[in-house]
Amino acid sequence: QARVLVTCPGIFYNDVRARLLERLVALSPEGLSRAFLCNSGTESVEAALKFARFTTGRTEFVSCMRGFHGRTLGSLSATFKKEYRESFEPLVPGFSYAPFNNLEKLQALVNERTAAVIVELVQGEGGVRIAEQEFLDGVQRLCAQRGALLIVDEIQTGFCRTGKMFACEHFGVKPDIMCVAKAMAGGVPIGATLCSERIEAPVGKHGTTFGGNPLACAAALAATGFMQEQRLAERAAEKGERFAAGLRARLPDSVRELRQLGLMIGIELKHKATPYLGALMERGVLALSAGPTVIRLLPPLVISHEQLARVADALADVLAARAPA
Ligand code: PLP
Repeated sequence: QARVLVTCPGIFYNDVRARLLERLVALSPEGLSRAFLCNSGTESVEAALKFARFTTGRTEFVSCMRGFHGRTLGSLSATFKKEYRESFEPLVPGFSYAPFNNLEKLQALVNERTAAVIVELVQGEGGVRIAEQEFLDGVQRLCAQRGALLIVDEIQTGFCRTGKMFACEHFGVKPDIMCVAKAMAGGVPIGATLCSERIEAPVGKHGTTFGGNPLACAAALAATGFMQEQRLAERAAEKGERFAAGLRARLPDSVRELRQLGLMIGIELKHKATPYLGALMERGVLALSAGPTVIRLLPPLVISHEQLARVADALADVLAARAPA
């Protein structure tokens, strides 16, 4: 594709882009029939917020405590963590935050001014926290009753990470808008905002120069084709469960909880997580923190069982030793 055509403005038809749009709609949860293509996760969220305002004529949003949606001003406004926000305030007005998995508190924030509720189905940055079915059912019902849209942020959970193509499938969630990016093109920058028929986004109201460029679209077609051919969702589900079951039996008392959905894994400690990350790195394991006390593992979906066994050994050893200074 690099030899044929690298970039092509959205106003002109492009065959590779058309194929990707068809693929995305085919892979996405029922009802998402159109897509806006962009270059990153945060851009996908910005588009979602603008489309939600335009469609509803409303200006307010409700997101969740510990939620993470990006670092540009709109998506940062939906992001909860003070450290990300405080140097850049005032942010976009009209955002409020409900405790994750607390329907009663969220209910109190959604009203006739609410354009949309935006949620992650598994909070990534927020500590690998998995949404409860009842909470999601309630949020969907509430949005429908009060005329607000439901935006699901699948930027981290999408494309097989949780053991399904999209985490929506675990919960039967049917969002009005779904944001995706990250794994979509196997590491080449791309993002998409998938929309139901209900969403209005007239041509010219929103746009991007590089979004949907044929080079990135070709990469996304190759990556998503690989995911399907190799059944990466099923394999992530199976590997994640096996890994978690094996590790759970070996965890010391200093671990509060192991949370896992597919190959999205969080180990919540009773104390700070960062001192362990260096020790893990010395053992060849690249892990992230997700909040102060959670070690987060997002292994490549093609990781082998043998490699996962090595990761489990390293974790068991490092966690059994006292927290490194
Ligand atoms: N939303 C979620 C859930 C994310 O995990 C991220 C990135 O970590 C983003 C949004 C922002 O995506 P990007 O870094 O591509 O802008």
